[in-house]
Amino acid sequence: MIIAVDGPSGAGKSSVCREVAKRLHWSLLDTGAIYRCVALTAMEKGVDSDPAACGEIARTIDIRFVADKSGQRVFIGDRDVTKEIRTFETTQTVNRIAPMPEVRAQLLETQRRLGHATNSIVEGRDIGSVVFPKAELKIYYTASAKARALRRLKEFQAKGENFDLEEVVRQIQQRDETEFNREHSPLIQCEDAIVLDTSDLSFEESCQALAKLIQDKYAELNP
Ligand code: C5P
Repeated sequence: MIIAVDGPSGAGKSSVCREVAKRLHWSLLDTGAIYRCVALTAMEKGVDSDPAACGEIARTIDIRFVADKSGQRVFIGDRDVTKEIRTFETTQTVNRIAPMPEVRAQLLETQRRLGHATNSIVEGRDIGSVVFPKAELKIYYTASAKARALRRLKEFQAKGENFDLEEVVRQIQQRDETEFNREHSPLIQCEDAIVLDTSDLSFEESCQALAKLIQDKYAELNP
């Protein structure tokens, strides 16, 4: 079974999917991490503005996910890049290379290959619409811009950094604008997706809500 979970940035989708996959003993494919690996490599080679070179990196890159106690580590070849792919610079670069059709076309097969474990939760932006349009269950995981900004502020505060709420809301709206309006594979809410709005839910409530949707679908398909 494939569960496609799509939704905007900053709603906590990755952390909740990771926790639910762990609880249900399902595989998890974080497709954003795949785009981030391509971005990191392109940045290091100084070719992140060249779509053909980025496409070539996407075609040849060797990405592996390795489970460990703390969750999942990401490797390019033998190099552990779990931390590097989350830096501010990589995030800036990935937002530029992810819309490139040369990159998206190459990563389609990679995602399909990596997502085809027995029972997989695959999370991203175009999983239900493009990568796995026949997924048994599609979930559109979202939260309001304000709720996402408040979550982001908490993360900043935990690191001792302070930002203005309105500024963070503005950044989130700007990022949404790019993801919803890009030419290739924009973020859309599939007609057959179940909407999970977590604006008023805690982390634990969001995990329980997602787990219940998956378990109910599993029981329906495996009576
Ligand atoms: O989810 P995350 O923030 O790690 O995604 C990193 C980048 O990859 C974002 O710019 C997002 O739009 C892009 N992405 C994508 N398609 C996916 C997953 C992520 O374009 N399936």
